Amino acid sequence: MAISTETHPQQQKVSTQAAGDKKRWTIDDFDVGKPLGRGKFGHVYIAREKRSNHIVALKVLSKTQLKQSQVEHQLRREVEIQSHLRHPNILRLYGYFYDQNRVYLILEYAAKGELYKDLQRCKYFSERRAATYVSALARALIYCHGKHVIHRDIKPENLLIGARGELKIADFGWSVHTFSRRRTMCGTLDYLPPEMVESKEHDASVDIWSLGILCYEFLYGLPPFEAEEHSDTYRRITQVDLNFPSKPVVSALAKDLISQMLVKDASKRLPLHKLLQHPWIVQNADPSGVYSG
Ligand code: ATP
Ligand code: MG
Repeated sequence: MAISTETHPQQQKVSTQAAGDKKRWTIDDFDVGKPLGRGKFGHVYIAREKRSNHIVALKVLSKTQLKQSQVEHQLRREVEIQSHLRHPNILRLYGYFYDQNRVYLILEYAAKGELYKDLQRCKYFSERRAATYVSALARALIYCHGKHVIHRDIKPENLLIGARGELKIADFGWSVHTFSRRRTMCGTLDYLPPEMVESKEHDASVDIWSLGILCYEFLYGLPPFEAEEHSDTYRRITQVDLNFPSKPVVSALAKDLISQMLVKDASKRLPLHKLLQHPWIVQNADPSGVYSG
């Protein structure tokens, strides 16, 4: 079975298994190259699927570590969700396999790496670049929400850049694991909306909030409610203590859009399809959805 961008390896596997064919991926199907990065539960390598010559990213997770952290269930969800999504701005998950000690995820390779690093290098993005990314993300999230998938973990570390500069949302399905009480309290609160930091019920509009945070961070270089102390970030989020610094200079239209997304009442946040019609997006976003410098 070769990796193809046209077919669905998971479905293919299911159907061939149903036909009595036990063919599964194994590590021998890949030439494994250099490490691309390190994750919490293992490493990510560039790899070539031998039969198709298709370049992929192979995420190798340690079963022991997954068990110790009790995230096997969440990993299953990540695989289940991400393997069914097909969108140019969502990182593809082609399939998975495992051996005695490890679980392997076969992921689309994002040649230009983490957006986070680009943002650190530039400090902040131009309005054209920020708007292009925000509109691409809005379209990807509209697609997800249409499939009843809420990402809940939209932040720069989870965004990768493809070879042509296209933005790719990665890290799906960690939501339960990421926002279990323990993780919420240990990890960064910066991207969480008031209803999540207050452990209230929430829906797809949490992603609108996170996209607002991200839009702010693209333009100013840091998230709006950042504070030294966890408790201060918590307070600033729940009070929506939003300020726009005078430097860098950001247009009134951009601030207007951010203010319409960072609204405490989740039902009053600007819906994503309306965001796409907002004049700041219309005037600044590259219609191709790709920022090419
Ligand atoms: P998770 O958030 O799922 O617990 P993690 O954030 O610790 O895991 P990843 O972000 O998945 O780990 O991977 C670690 C690093 O490997 C990334 O920060 C990135 O630099 C690199 N990487 C991961 N996936 C890809 C990919 N598909 N293409 C290119 N580089 C990748
Ligand atoms: Mg990550």
